[in-house]
Amino acid sequence: MSPPRRRLVGGLDLGGTKIQAVVLDGRRSVIGEAKSATPTTDGAQDVILALVSTMGSACADADVELGDLAGVGVGSPGAIDARRGIVTGARNLPGEGAPIKIAAGFRTLADTRAYVDNDVTVGVNAEYQLGAARRSKSLLGVWWGTGVGGGIVLHGEPWDGRGAAAELGHVVVRIGGAECTCGRRGCMEAYAGRGSMEIRARREHKKGRKTELFKIMEKRGRTRLTSGVWARALEHGDELAIELVDRALEALGAGVASAVNLLDPETVVIGGGLGTRLGEPYVERIREAMQPHLFVDDRPPRVALAELGDLGGAIGAALLVPPGSPGRKR
Ligand SMILES: [Zn+2]
Repeated sequence: MSPPRRRLVGGLDLGGTKIQAVVLDGRRSVIGEAKSATPTTDGAQDVILALVSTMGSACADADVELGDLAGVGVGSPGAIDARRGIVTGARNLPGEGAPIKIAAGFRTLADTRAYVDNDVTVGVNAEYQLGAARRSKSLLGVWWGTGVGGGIVLHGEPWDGRGAAAELGHVVVRIGGAECTCGRRGCMEAYAGRGSMEIRARREHKKGRKTELFKIMEKRGRTRLTSGVWARALEHGDELAIELVDRALEALGAGVASAVNLLDPETVVIGGGLGTRLGEPYVERIREAMQPHLFVDDRPPRVALAELGDLGGAIGAALLVPPGSPGRKR
């Protein structure tokens, strides 16, 4: 069966633990997907090889070839040079922040054009175009994961300010409060980011506090408290997990409501690793936690769970490929 002649694009979500790839057809439906572990060696080149090979697997799943793609979009953490397709300073990727030349890598290894942008930005855009906010003109994305990322769409256009807008995690919810991984104090992320929650959990555990968190982590062969580990601990009624998640929700309530007071968006979408893993019951908890801080409290925005789930990042990345891309001449 020969592949249909239609415009195909690839999307890659490059995360600290896994790489997710999708192939979208001309109607932006997922027709192939693949997943692999992010390399743990220390070479930036290994990341590029893994990206290309995972994209190749998604193409195989869709019964097409890499060369059939009009282009590949990549969502990545770290600082992005979108024009040159380079990622730097991503602390949780191999190479310890060394430049990862993604566009050049795809050109050389796959003869394919690649477009790179921030992982949260592309995930929020996917929810705006195809997911929970597709009927909204304005949107605040809240990506609750290792950190708390944000994304803003106003009048149907993404708002990135001078390049650093929507750093929602660093909205201050308590002056002189908890130390944030950014080095400042009182940021929402210092309470709600999974990274900060883990630091706090480890400290409490060391002090002798009882918790199932680290047992669950070890049983799953993990070295970090992943979203799945938190979810399981909550299901078990683990007291420390409940306490730290309650604290996170309280901070999210204040921080997200403050952003809503400023922007008044139609829709707030809750995504990110922890947000999508904990799901609707916790979206409801965020709604409740926001309420006391909303200035116009009788007309709250719609607060919705991200609809595209785990594939959202890769789908959003695929949308980076500009519509005019002709693809490789065959
Ligand atoms: Zn901070």
